[in-house]
Amino acid sequence: MYKGIECKLYPNQQQANIIQMTFGHTRFIWNQMLGMLNERYQNNKDLKMLSYSTLSSLIPQLKREYAWLKDVDSVAIQCSVKRLSETFDRFFKGFCRYPKFKSKKHHQSYLSTIRGQNIRLNHNQRYIKLPKLGWVKCKPSVRYIENERIQSVTVKQRASGKYVISVLVASENQALAKTGKTIGIDLGVSDFAITSDGHKYPSQKLHLKYQQQLHYWEKRMARRRLKAKAAGIDLKDAKNYQKARKQVARIHKKIADTRKDYIHKITTELVKQYDVLVIEDLKASNILKNHKLARSIASQSWRQFRVLLAYKCKIYGKELIVVNPYKTSQKCSNCGHDSGKKNLDIRQWRCPSCHTEHDRDINAAKNIRNIGLGQALVK
Ligand SMILES: [Zn+2]
Repeated sequence: MYKGIECKLYPNQQQANIIQMTFGHTRFIWNQMLGMLNERYQNNKDLKMLSYSTLSSLIPQLKREYAWLKDVDSVAIQCSVKRLSETFDRFFKGFCRYPKFKSKKHHQSYLSTIRGQNIRLNHNQRYIKLPKLGWVKCKPSVRYIENERIQSVTVKQRASGKYVISVLVASENQALAKTGKTIGIDLGVSDFAITSDGHKYPSQKLHLKYQQQLHYWEKRMARRRLKAKAAGIDLKDAKNYQKARKQVARIHKKIADTRKDYIHKITTELVKQYDVLVIEDLKASNILKNHKLARSIASQSWRQFRVLLAYKCKIYGKELIVVNPYKTSQKCSNCGHDSGKKNLDIRQWRCPSCHTEHDRDINAAKNIRNIGLGQALVK
């Protein structure tokens, strides 16, 4: 159910020092615990082996005695004890030999497991955040690792001196239970996603939330750029300009992160509930670069929605159908009657042929579902 993905790791000098220290400290804790267990056994051979929880309850005491143990990732320290306990378990079952002391010559590695968000890759997967080390430059051997699936990491140093990290992720083949249901999804601006079952996921209105801040800093950035240029200062050295530039970047990142979280939430909800998901192909006009913040957020969200939905359908064993957006907002989803183009401000309408009352967006989503079902039948 799990697989290890190897990434090359490029720590800076300070990070490399901390990694080395963690190798040493996790080895130290292993050897201390093993020494203690050996001694305990020698003193009384009838005593039962200590459980992992008892062993780990001894860690704080060791940390008081050796305060420098606190300088490294505490989860790695815990994992070292856990590994020792597991090795003993296997030994008692006859699967392996008696645990040995670790020497500096071997075992240049440590394991750390996920605790909340302590281990994660950045958006372009060029940096990985590790406890105590912060963001470390890295190069994964696969194209995309989903942060939500990371279970643990093992940091190793190769004989060549190079660092690698093995990331354990939950396997991709986690087919979700089949529900037998199909859904059409229409994407919009005021409501982000509308389903043929009548559910509306409202738009987050991030442009309203951040427009003022963004405008404030963008104005300053532009003004400070001109000022620096007039004074003949290189932009790299123009402190005030750089400050404004960072603020602008920070706000854009905040918007992007918030948007992505939301899309993750929606797509997960949808793949859990439905087996076949039908969406419209993105209209070319929507993909065009748009300078209006609201539109640009919307079009980026749609693209991201589609990418994530496709990805999740694949790993959770669901089907995604992409249909041509032809006339989905003008036809009646009930009888198929085409009553012509409708202005964007018409939110509700009644079909002149079968007299069904329609919500504009939900009707479109139903049409999308119907086209998708038709395509699925043809296949
Ligand atoms: Zn009709």
